[in-house]
Amino acid sequence: MIATGSSQARHRSSSLWLDRFDGSLAPRPPLAGDLQCDVAIVGAGFTGLWTAYHLATLQPGLRIVVLEREIAGHGASGRNGGWAIGGLSGTPAAYGCAPGDERVARAVRATHQAVDEIGAVAAREGIDCDFVKAGALTLATSAPQWRRLQARDGDATAAADRGDSDGHLLSATEAGELVAGVPGLHGGRFTPHAARIDPARLVRGLAEACERHGVTIHEQTAVTTIEPGRVSTATGVVAADAVIRATESYTTQLHGERLRYLPLYSLMIATAPLEASVWAQLGWRDGLLVDDRHHLFFYAQRTSDGRIAIGGRGAPYRLAHPIDPANERNEGVRARLVATIARTFPAAAGAEITHHWGGPLAAPRDWSMSVNYDRASGMGSAGGYTGHGVAAAQIAGATLADLVLGRDSDLVTLPWVGHRSRRWEPEPLRFLASRAIVGTLGAADRHEDATGRADLRVRLLRAFLPPAH
Ligand SMILES: Cc1cc2nc3c(=O)[nH]c(=O)nc-3n(C[C@H](O)[C@H](O)[C@H](O)COP(=O)(O)OP(=O)(O)OC[C@H]3O[C@@H](n4cnc5c(N)ncnc54)[C@H](O)[C@@H]3O)c2cc1C
Repeated sequence: MIATGSSQARHRSSSLWLDRFDGSLAPRPPLAGDLQCDVAIVGAGFTGLWTAYHLATLQPGLRIVVLEREIAGHGASGRNGGWAIGGLSGTPAAYGCAPGDERVARAVRATHQAVDEIGAVAAREGIDCDFVKAGALTLATSAPQWRRLQARDGDATAAADRGDSDGHLLSATEAGELVAGVPGLHGGRFTPHAARIDPARLVRGLAEACERHGVTIHEQTAVTTIEPGRVSTATGVVAADAVIRATESYTTQLHGERLRYLPLYSLMIATAPLEASVWAQLGWRDGLLVDDRHHLFFYAQRTSDGRIAIGGRGAPYRLAHPIDPANERNEGVRARLVATIARTFPAAAGAEITHHWGGPLAAPRDWSMSVNYDRASGMGSAGGYTGHGVAAAQIAGATLADLVLGRDSDLVTLPWVGHRSRRWEPEPLRFLASRAIVGTLGAADRHEDATGRADLRVRLLRAFLPPAH
């Protein structure tokens, strides 16, 4: 298929990162006929590409084919906030870990190593993805937010059992040394296990690194069915000993998989590059990632070209079209993010907003990720990272590679290997639950900001909420 300018323009409009990507976004050739290989991977996001990368570097000569419906990085991997952050995705209980289970500490260590591994591979493969490991700061800008942060760190043993042992609380003065002038700051929490990246440069660079190691990538190739030993498309069938599904939120579009995840949209905006004098007033340490403890929290990074890129949840779930380009922008969320910049980083209030975009991520019913591989059928999959996919997909890819190759590594005994989340409630219950979650969390935030008191309605929804609430 001929790459048209309009298809590249469409991909560039998917995120700030793809827009300012200085390489070509012209699609690689699609699959043109039947093929035979050792491993077929569906999806060229971080999960699929890390799996391919680790397989290809562990066993050179393995015939690996990646099939991607659009282009590498079209999904969440080319659109996210660029937070490569350690920490447990999900809860130890969901993985069947009792208090004191050593697998929790091991899992958390593995996520920390994943952050470093991203930096190491980027350096080794010459991927210039703006990797700066300067840590992440969570701000508490109200008394209830501060109490939530303190509760999280207050009991060291309980925190370790939850996999939360990697950060420490900061007073408002200490937090202000990392980002200055945040109004109403009560304190913060800092973790060193976090790095800022440019997601598009990482995912596109990873695709090129895979090719250098012998992986074949076919873009503009939609997979219609995934079965043991074969993957079918409109233009051919790929027969393979191992088949890996790496389609995260888009898995819900595959036959019989609709309720595997809740496809949640996270939306972002970016300012134009800010003047050096504004950055001086903001006192924002370079590379530092910043978020807060609102229920509908924001996450932000200072980009390498001097913008604030900031995102948050709260886009309404649409029953008829849970995944649709129309969900990628939302005036309400955009306005909330603009207001967040003005309230939290006043020196940047009124900055021009040049980009607004979003994408779907996969939330499993228990908010806990999984990596699965069945040796008998050769079928594997990974996903459900909720907001932790940048680092988690690196671990998942390395783990899938070990599972496929039968390597008896530490990774294959981590708690999420073999984990299966139960499915979401059938529609319209899932729709109602997700609308109720967003509505209640937004109302709770407004109440807390106005009164300085916790909103107890959130507790009513606890059965549906991720662990941090
Ligand atoms: C706006 C936003 C901000 C986020 N911020 C962060 C963050 O800062 N830190 C963090 O850790 N996580 C973040 N996440 C989550 C993270 O980006 C994802 O968890 C992660 O990128 C998932 O990677 P993946 O490869 O599994 O899925 P994806 O990147 O979604 O890739 C799946 C790929 O499969 C392809 N595909 C789907 N169906 C088919 C098919 N039938 N045939 C062929 N190909 C198919 C898609 O086109 C896509 O390219 C964010 C997500 C979003 C949307």
